[in-house]
This record gives sequence, C-alpha cells and structure tokens, in this order.
Amino acid sequence: MSYTIIKVPQGGEKITVTNGELKVPNNPIIPFIEGDGTGRDIWRASQRVLDAAVEKAYGSKRKLVWMEVYAGEKAFTQFNSWLPEETLQAFREFLVGIKGPLTTPIGGGMRSLNVALRKELDLYVCQRPVRWFEGVPSPVKRPQDVDMVVFRENTEDIYTGIEFENGSDDNKKFKEIFKAAFPKEFAKIRFPDTSGIGLKPVSVEGTERLVRAAIKWALANKRKSVTLVHKGNIMKFTEGAFRNWGYALAEKEFGDKVYTWQTWEKTKADKGEEVANKEQEAALKAGRLLIKDVIADIVFQQTITRATDFDVFATMNLNGDYLSDALAAQVGGIGIAPGGNINFDTGHAVFEATHGTAPKYADKDVVNPGSVILSGEMMLRYMGWGEAADAVVRGIEGAIAAKTVTYDFHRLMDGATKLNTSQFADAMIAKM
Ligand code: NAP
Repeated sequence: MSYTIIKVPQGGEKITVTNGELKVPNNPIIPFIEGDGTGRDIWRASQRVLDAAVEKAYGSKRKLVWMEVYAGEKAFTQFNSWLPEETLQAFREFLVGIKGPLTTPIGGGMRSLNVALRKELDLYVCQRPVRWFEGVPSPVKRPQDVDMVVFRENTEDIYTGIEFENGSDDNKKFKEIFKAAFPKEFAKIRFPDTSGIGLKPVSVEGTERLVRAAIKWALANKRKSVTLVHKGNIMKFTEGAFRNWGYALAEKEFGDKVYTWQTWEKTKADKGEEVANKEQEAALKAGRLLIKDVIADIVFQQTITRATDFDVFATMNLNGDYLSDALAAQVGGIGIAPGGNINFDTGHAVFEATHGTAPKYADKDVVNPGSVILSGEMMLRYMGWGEAADAVVRGIEGAIAAKTVTYDFHRLMDGATKLNTSQFADAMIAKM
C-alpha cells in the first residue's frame, strides 16, 4: 500500500493475523492519532510511558515503531480533510493502533472517526476494563471490589441510526407502510401523529460474535463469570433474544468449560433446586466459567451494592454505553478510563481514550494522561506483550500510591502532590 501523507517508518514490521491469531513481530509498526486539544500533551506523555514499559520488560529486544496517522483538527489544518482516507487505510493495513481524543465540530463537516473506523473495520466489540487503583478517589465505599470488563456490542441495536424524524416525509411514509402491514402493532403507538420512530435491529450473528469474544476472553484470563445484560422482560425479541442466543452459544460452543444459569433452571425444573445448586457448585469448583444474566436496570444497583458478584459483562450497544460510564465513575472516572474497539476475527483493533479533548486545558500540560496510557496497556496485552503491560500497571499503581497525581485526582485527595501531565509520565516511569 502506498501513502502520500503518512510516512511509514523504517525498521518496523506489520502485525499480521492467521486464523484469528495475531503474529506480532519484535518491532511492530503502530499507527497512532495524537488527538486534538489536550490530546497533544497526553500523547507525548503516553508514548514515553509505553516505550519505557517495553524497554523495561524486554530491553532492546522489542520496540514499538510509532507511525503517525492523521484525523481531526491536525488533519484538517495540514491536509484539508478531517479524516483522510489514508488513515483508514493505515488502520486496515497495520491492524492494531491507538488514538487520542478528537474534536467533533458542531454542525457537521466531519464524519465521526470512531463511527468510520468501527464500520470500516467492523470493530464489533467495545472492550472497557474497569478496575480500581489503590488511592484513587472514589465515591463508593469499596472501590477495590470493582474489577470488571465490559464487552459492549458495537455495530447494532438502536445505535444503528435508522431513525425517522417526526414531521418528515420519510416518517409519514414509514408509518403508512407500517400501519397497512401491521395495524395491531400500529395501534399501540400512543401518539402516532407526532411520534419519531427508531429501529432496533439485533441479530443472531451480532449477538453470537460478541458473546463468543466475551467468553473466550474470560476463559483465557481465568475470570469467574460472564453476565449477559438485557432488558428482555420488556423487549423480548431484541433484548430477550440477546439473552437466549447468548446462553445457547455458551452451551453450544463452550460446553463443559462453562456452567449456565439456563442449565441450572433446567435442572431445577427436572430435579429440584437443591440438586441444581449442587450441580452449579460442583461445576464452579471444577473451574468452569459461570454464564449468568441480569436485567439492565437492576445491574446499576447491584454493581454498587454487591460489586464482587460481577466480573465480565456481555452487553448490547446502548446498555453497554451506560454501564461502562457508570462503572468508570466508581473507580476514578473519565481521566483514567481506557477502551478498545476490536474485531476478534480479523485482529483489527483501535484502542482509545474514552474522554474528549477537554479543550480548556489544551497545551497546558495539566490533564491526566491515564486514559490513553491504560488504553496502551490494553493494546500491549492484546498484542501478547503482557510483561510490558504489567510494567505500565506497576507505574500507575506506584505513582498514585505515592500520591503524585494530576490536578483531577489532586483536588480530591488529602496530602497529594500535584504534577503536570509530563511529570506524571516521569513519575510512572520511575515506578515501573
Ligand atoms: P471532555 O473533553 O471529556 O471533557 C469534560 C471534562 O472531563 C473536562 O472539563 C474535565 O473535567 C474532564 N476531563 C476530560 N479529560 C480529562 C483528562 N484527561 N484528565 C482529567 N480530566 C479530564 O468532554 P467535552 O468537553 O464534552 O468535549 C470536548 C470535545 O471532545 C468535543 O469536541 C467532543 O465532541 C469531543 N469528544 C471526543 C471524544 C473522542 O474522541 N473519543 C469523546 C468525547 C468527546 P474538569 O473540568 O472537571 O476538570
């Protein structure tokens, strides 16, 4: 592939994938988008921390070979395009990359890079780990109980964007067709003349690949449970189907590696509750992964009141969006919440900060670089460079435990030392 604005660095090699397995050379080329606003300060700090972690773990044997690709304001200023085609091409070709936050200009003018990448590369999982680092200010009593990973479906559900605006011709047309074909269903609409309409497609394939990714990841990482989140009591053929297809997939593809609440229900019906409880206990004792489900409203209460009941989540798009932000709030919030958008079949992955560009702090070197750094930690782990990822974790744990933190934590901690973005990177590196 040839590039005109992107400079492909010398001395690096491509990450490739065979049968869903990543092959990572010792000098992988990693495309990165610096990000707008505070993205510049954050990226500078993050790159140093990630390079230091790799060096700490592998000496000169391994090295990340960074390749800048462009999007957002920087791309617009330099190349007159908010999202040059080459950027998509680079992520497609080099498989694994990372991005800082990007401005979304109000009033249009730019297609959202996230949406473009998600669509282009079919990044069907949004993975958001949520864990607490000792010393991080938290609004809950036992933040140490929160150690969860959300697998959020990224390509369907109400987010598909099929909407008909009230008053528009398409809305009228849609309602006419709907009324003619499904008069009984149409009659359920309380105020039909003034209703906007949205569609919520949820498929077998979309559900299965998401649940499969969550279960595989949970097994590989020796987690205890995968919880399917849904509102199936109300939306039976979308949310309820997600639950049913999820259980079916777990039993069909993972057999004796898992024990499902569906099996428990069946045993209970056939042989009674006591037998079902014993069966579950024995299965979990033997190291099987528990597959269970929870209704999407109560999960917000239970993740606060009994956090230890939860581990990995498999969720639909909207539920996962709400849940991952709510969980992040328990462990220190937006400044350190990482994420990754991944296609576990093709290997394509883009790791990213979950916060925005925080423009009022741009170029002041003050914000917390933790979200991008921990997204980098996820990326290293995804590449199989676990020792380097561990070094990043030691760095952030050490810096926070020493109460050397950026302004956002400083204002909530007693007796802490306030560092700027680059000093926080230094503090992390020193603690690796
Ligand atoms: P934001 O940039 O996330 O900032 C909101 C507030 O969150 C900040 O004022 C700050 O709080 C805190 N914050 C954000 N990043 C932080 C960090 N690294 N360290 C410490 N605190 C941090 O949200 P916004 O102001 O609504 O959006 C600004 C721009 O970002 C918009 O153009 C939006 O479209 C874009 N955006 C991009 C992405 C993305 O690229 N993934 C995501 C969301 C928003 P305090 O004021 O309390 O210090």
